[in-house]
Amino acid sequence: MTTQNKGVAIVSEAVCEAIVGRPEAFTAVEDIFAAMAKKDAYNFPVVREAIGHADALYGFKSGFDRAGQVLGVKSGGYWPGNAANGLTNHQSTVILFDPDTGKLKALVGGNYLTAVRTAASSAVSIAHLARKDAKVLGMVGAGHQSTFQLRAAVEQRNFEKVVAWNPHPEYLPRLQAVCDELGLPFEAVSREELGAQADVIITITSAFEPLLMKDWIKPGTHIACMGTDTKGKQEVDPELLVAASVFTDEIEQSISIGEAQHAVGNASLSASDITPIGEVINATHPGRRSDNEITLFDGTGVGLQDLAVASAAAELAIAQNQADWTEL
Ligand code: NAD
Repeated sequence: MTTQNKGVAIVSEAVCEAIVGRPEAFTAVEDIFAAMAKKDAYNFPVVREAIGHADALYGFKSGFDRAGQVLGVKSGGYWPGNAANGLTNHQSTVILFDPDTGKLKALVGGNYLTAVRTAASSAVSIAHLARKDAKVLGMVGAGHQSTFQLRAAVEQRNFEKVVAWNPHPEYLPRLQAVCDELGLPFEAVSREELGAQADVIITITSAFEPLLMKDWIKPGTHIACMGTDTKGKQEVDPELLVAASVFTDEIEQSISIGEAQHAVGNASLSASDITPIGEVINATHPGRRSDNEITLFDGTGVGLQDLAVASAAAELAIAQNQADWTEL
């Protein structure tokens, strides 16, 4: 990215949405998971604080991708009162720096990119871990992220049907509308029925208790647990992680703020049982070993994912003359 002559590139939410599609996000996220597993890229400790104002949670996710020469930070958080004022509750901005000089290179809107990179994360897990003959996709969750998840997932296998459950059933038409658009049959089902039918399941809720029990999940299923990104959150039965082969974006986050925190917390699983998905991408781990194995991806969301998609957005915006420029 040559920014020295023109100053700081500003890439708006609208431009990000126009130029970073699912394929670009998939490649950026797959590449960064691979780089993390090779220790070519690393995340810095996450800061997340309740600021005691507007009920907001505010924080930083930061890292350095030595292979791609991307250094930066995603700053933002969760403002629960925003929706009432017509704003997105999750607000974030990515700040990119020149790793040679520390000079500010770009400011990139992070709201749309967060959704598309989170969807790319579960999609990468499906591409590498789900059975090739998977036919039914199960969706648990129907909030803001869910339609991004659904659109990215259905591109990974020849799905013939989508089944869904949400604690608030009134949100489910959101998923039905995407299925109608894509010409995919859609059925709202019970959680037990979802487990019985689905070959691939995505969970993307704000739950604090298990929504799916181990005994409801059939052999051979791939599950991407995407909602648990904070201490205390939980979407599935910890016994499911014991029964499954567990993969993650980053082990440290998986055991502290991800879905594995509960099974590790009750000592039924240890960090050494969990495999970074980058090892599967790099072919240093075989991934799924049999058609009957349950595979579970604990997608906790790492800062390097944000930096990877933001860097792709900045490069595309500059190449297509869609960035604004400013000097500090
Ligand atoms: P949202 O507020 O739009 O939707 C929340 C979803 O969770 C809905 O399906 C809702 O019905 C359900 N829900 C709400 N309260 C619940 C409760 N107490 N118990 C069970 N379900 C409940 O949120 P969103 O933007 O769609 O995000 C969903 C989750 O994904 C959040 O937990 C968010 O923090 C997480 N997230 C994770 C990543 C990542 O990288 N892993 C990235 C972004 C968001």
